[in-house]
Amino acid sequence: MGTDRRVARQDALVRRLEAQGLDGLLVAGRANVRYLTGFTGSAGVVLVTRAEVVLVTDFRYDTQARAEAQGAARVAVDRVNIWDRLARELVALGVTGSLGCEPHVLTVREAERLTQLAAGKAWSWAPAPDLVEQLRVRKDPDEVAAIRAAAALAEAALDVVLARVRLGQTEREIAGMLEYEMRRLGSDDHPFPAIVASAERSALPHARAGSRTLRAGDWLLLDFGATVDGYCADLTRTLVVGAPATDTQRALYGVVLAAQRRARAGVRAGMTGREADALARDLIAARGFGDAFGHSTGHGLGLEVHEAPRVAQTNEDPLPADAVVTIEPGVYLAGEGGVRLEDDVHLAAEGAVLLSRGAGELVEVGAGD
Ligand code: ZN
Ligand code: ZN
Repeated sequence: MGTDRRVARQDALVRRLEAQGLDGLLVAGRANVRYLTGFTGSAGVVLVTRAEVVLVTDFRYDTQARAEAQGAARVAVDRVNIWDRLARELVALGVTGSLGCEPHVLTVREAERLTQLAAGKAWSWAPAPDLVEQLRVRKDPDEVAAIRAAAALAEAALDVVLARVRLGQTEREIAGMLEYEMRRLGSDDHPFPAIVASAERSALPHARAGSRTLRAGDWLLLDFGATVDGYCADLTRTLVVGAPATDTQRALYGVVLAAQRRARAGVRAGMTGREADALARDLIAARGFGDAFGHSTGHGLGLEVHEAPRVAQTNEDPLPADAVVTIEPGVYLAGEGGVRLEDDVHLAAEGAVLLSRGAGELVEVGAGD
């Protein structure tokens, strides 16, 4: 990565805390911890106050935390319990007043623990949802570049896999090939298990890859993601295997492609989520498939595969500049099949910038040897 923005992010967070009358924030969400400190471990919380930023973690992450958070946070390691250590840090720092915590992240048990820690102390906890998430919405150039690299990697993996798709393979085999190729090409992780759904199963928007084998003329829907430097890409392609597409398949694909192209070219920062969603939804409805598009047009993308902002009918807020969102309309006909096409778009000042290659005309693959 290029410019180290962690301290600038922490400063921006402190300004938000002050605006809300908070004296600090306990950050527990893993993506939030990574965003502010660079720490990628699974156990750790960050205390952000005006005076200091402290990463509290356990023994397993001692070396890793010190390396990753260097220059962004003081690391406090406890051999026994990070919550007890957190309490000692709060007392040592002389923290008083109202401290925010992340109610959307903490478990009920952790929230009870925090309440116990504050008993008789000079601070109290106040729910402060989504403060770091709101900062994360606007991507800096390095974050956009990482998402673009993840998309390129995922597409390169798909190219390899599509050349190897054959009739008789199971959905699971294809999902396995896709995940393997993404790993081989350098993906850090799978942000979600690859969805591979064939024939009428492609009408299940979140199908799990199963044991069904590919037959000639099937739809094949693949929804998959890769990560680079922690940043996710999320793509969906739908194609036909083993035979030329029928006129019905071409017509259905054409509707979704037209909707997807309209939305990915027309989406802008400043539009509400509802307005951006309508770019795809109105076209699908006008072609008579409105009832067959039952999810939102897209979602934000970053350190998490689903984050703000939502490109959805229910989002009346303007899409922030420099957000990265997916555009993924679909049409699903129960018992027949479905088509979804998903690409990733940066809402830059000059307009929508496609970070992936972009879905194109319907292709047929894997006619067999
Ligand atoms: Zn997806
Ligand atoms: Zn998605």
